[in-house]
Amino acid sequence: MQLRIPGPTPCPDEVLKAIGRQMINHRGKAFVEMSTRIIPRLQECFQTKNDVLILTTSGTGGLESAVVNTLSPGDKVLGISIGVFGDRFAECAKVYGAEVIPLKYELGKAANPDDIRKALKDNPDIKAVMVTHNETSTGTTNPLKEIAKAIKEFDKLTLVDAVSSMSSIDLPVDAWGLDVVVSGSQKGWMVPPGLAFVSVSERGWKAHAESKMPKFYFDYARAKKFAADGQTPWTPAVSVYFGLDVALDMMLKEGLQNIFARHKRVADKARAWVKARGLRLVPEEKYASNTVTAVHVPDDIDESKFRTTLRTEYKVEIAGGQSTMKGKVFRIGHLGFINDKDMDEITAAMDQALLKAKK
Ligand SMILES: *Cc1c(COP(=O)(O)O)cnc(C)c1O
Repeated sequence: MQLRIPGPTPCPDEVLKAIGRQMINHRGKAFVEMSTRIIPRLQECFQTKNDVLILTTSGTGGLESAVVNTLSPGDKVLGISIGVFGDRFAECAKVYGAEVIPLKYELGKAANPDDIRKALKDNPDIKAVMVTHNETSTGTTNPLKEIAKAIKEFDKLTLVDAVSSMSSIDLPVDAWGLDVVVSGSQKGWMVPPGLAFVSVSERGWKAHAESKMPKFYFDYARAKKFAADGQTPWTPAVSVYFGLDVALDMMLKEGLQNIFARHKRVADKARAWVKARGLRLVPEEKYASNTVTAVHVPDDIDESKFRTTLRTEYKVEIAGGQSTMKGKVFRIGHLGFINDKDMDEITAAMDQALLKAKK
């Protein structure tokens, strides 16, 4: 089976073997050693010297942690949204009492740094900017480097959803000056769901010290205190740690730049297929994601039949559209454990399934 949804993604055999290991004491030496090996390698992947905390939760929990650890009820935040996940991040801040000023774009569009400048100029009391690096629902990658530059001009806190990009698309946290950056284990990391990784800058820690939103399980200060001893405040997803320990070895052996190049190569193949079949990408090609390709369903194709045929007859599972894009968009996940040959198999299978799904 080729599981090609944008998370969970397939795991290499070495990782599967590791996660099947017997449990260990999460307060014992073996766990401390493992976590002491893992954190510097996560920092390497985040390209940061900032703290990287590991939370046992899904990506959304990581986003919630960014909100409750840096903001106070009543804080004004700019909620940039180019799709479902941008909306979710903003909603989370709203639920906790932040005043969200939305900056929303049509589906398939990327955010424009000049619009952000204007919003920050018009609302000088904004404390933080929330932004999605890679919008998985529309297969669109925001120009985060330029966006971060715009935010820096106004000296605001930057909270980034990098759940489906970190480790697959170049995202140098320190070089771009990003304060809180969140990723999730089941996306580009070649491990199962269960862990979120969050980098926190010095400015992020200052915001934490002032933040008044309620926090307990996700409190960064507790996580940092325990991390100093190679532990976590609560029982972690030990099995996912086992897998991550192995996956990070594989990733750093391949090299970050090579991983980014592989993702681009595979994504280029997906996009070339879309064009060759006369189909239409959801995003403008310039902003098309290297981890997920979102495609408009053409009028003459039965979308449900297409994906069902692909799954049952050709053993390739791709994702449908989310929210208002249900039935109108299909999405090919190509992040983490994927190579050129996989994508050739996927496109060949999609060709067959397209023929069978013609109305
Ligand atoms: C998958 C994803 C999330 C949510 O992660 P969960 O692990 O499902 O909670 C958030 N943001 C983006 C961009 C994602 O791709």
